[in-house]
Amino acid sequence: MTSGTETATDWAEVAGGLTLDSRPFVDGAPVDARTDTSFAVENAFTTEVLTEVPDCAEADVNRAVAAARASFEAGVWSRMPPVERGKILRRWADMVAASKELAALQSLQMGMPISVALPDMQAASDVLRDAAELADQLNDVLLPGSPSAILMEIRRPQGVVAIISPWNFPTGVALTMIAPALAAGNSVVLKPSEIAPLECLHLARQAAEAGVPPGVFNVITGTGPTTGKALALHMDVDMLSFTGSTATGQLLMQYAGQSNLKALVLECGGKSPQIVFDDVGDIETLADALYEGFTFNSGQVCTSSSRTLVAASLYDRLVPLLAARVEAARTGRPLDPATTLGPLANRAQADRLRNTLAAADPAVHLIARGQTSGLGPNEFAPHLFETADQSSRLVQDEVFGPLSVISRFHDEDEAVRIANGTRYGLSAIVYSSDMAVSHRLMSRLKAGVVLANRVAKPKPPGLRYATVEPVKMSGFGAHGGPRGLATYTRVQAAIFNME
Ligand code: NAD
Repeated sequence: MTSGTETATDWAEVAGGLTLDSRPFVDGAPVDARTDTSFAVENAFTTEVLTEVPDCAEADVNRAVAAARASFEAGVWSRMPPVERGKILRRWADMVAASKELAALQSLQMGMPISVALPDMQAASDVLRDAAELADQLNDVLLPGSPSAILMEIRRPQGVVAIISPWNFPTGVALTMIAPALAAGNSVVLKPSEIAPLECLHLARQAAEAGVPPGVFNVITGTGPTTGKALALHMDVDMLSFTGSTATGQLLMQYAGQSNLKALVLECGGKSPQIVFDDVGDIETLADALYEGFTFNSGQVCTSSSRTLVAASLYDRLVPLLAARVEAARTGRPLDPATTLGPLANRAQADRLRNTLAAADPAVHLIARGQTSGLGPNEFAPHLFETADQSSRLVQDEVFGPLSVISRFHDEDEAVRIANGTRYGLSAIVYSSDMAVSHRLMSRLKAGVVLANRVAKPKPPGLRYATVEPVKMSGFGAHGGPRGLATYTRVQAAIFNME
């Protein structure tokens, strides 16, 4: 457990003391990979190699799926009373919340500042706890029968669930899929992102210690085209749950179709707008919220507000305040508790962003740029742009970095038209003091989650019951809450004829 008073030196010590065990975790224990191919996992800030990780191929995938299948059919977890599964998941949740190692791993591998990684561990732990609490609320339904027949709809686990996760919140996003999958009684094979796989291996060791039986939660490392593809094409995987880019999501739909029609849920990319009306109250507070909207976790957030739409009547007053915040921003060492902005997750990500800016459309103008410490090759300062041209690539494509493009709008219709004018539909935020405006807008916004003002702190307790369904090319399927849990089940119609 952290005291919250750790210094950069304390965190460097935690990081230095980590055991970087990169062996796949299968059937309750770390195992030697069958593949002899590996790749390097780097420190996101220094780009030093942390360790080599196996690029698991078919033999490793088959072994992990077989372990998951055997545990599922044996019923060691799938037939355990949900309340008992919940107890084990809660024990695991306590371990996640208290884990300095997980926070340090996340900070090392993808550059998340420790000041962000620590609360993220708490959020990740809450995801497990929430799923544990919902586990016995998957109610079966009794249908109208007759004196000689009882009709029921019974929820059953899907079976073997493959999970493919991204790197931007390596622990938390993986757990948003692992937790409901396990709570519903499935056995899981997880392939984490090759950029940040080590915390998921740590999660697997914790799960075993918490009491998750062998074979129920397996983690195999590897790259997308090797391990991910083999898992997605596997004939004995019943369901595939994916969070990542839209391009990969499109491939996974093909793999599911080419193989065994496995059930599929996809949480993909976004190009989310934050929409500001001129009736907002304190614009200094507003500027803080807007800035955080696209710089949190260096903008490497699926719901990052990479577009900012501002009412024309407020534009000239608000934009200088936002620009001042961007100019004052500075990236730094992730393990320093004073750092709020880390580097980008890896070289490819940093190069991609630099190339995107170099090729930016002349119709998009740079208004403000922050600073970097100059100490890490993957540092990328926040940027603020403005444009009136909604067709520009910077407006249309997900950039996944700390930047936002501002546009002005003159009325609600124009705000809605611009907001809905990309191929994505993940989230949107509306800022207005008039609830009627937010309410009206929300009904017209094509987004899986819509917020009037940014996330409340502390989060409202009912958030655990909220379900999000992305629209357009941001994916599909119910995620979160009881309906998100039900995603990891299928309904079996049971008919008892008694004549
Ligand atoms: P990515 O699509 O490149 O990779 C995600 C995962 O898919 C990784 O584990 C990767 O190895 C795997 N993969 C890649 N190619 C594959 C293939 N051919 N077959 C099988 N698996 C393959 O995404 P990323 O760069 O890791 O993450 C960033 C993306 O994730 C962004 O687009 C972001 O918006 C999205 N994301 C979405 C949400 C959400 O909730 N909607 C949350 C977080 C991240």
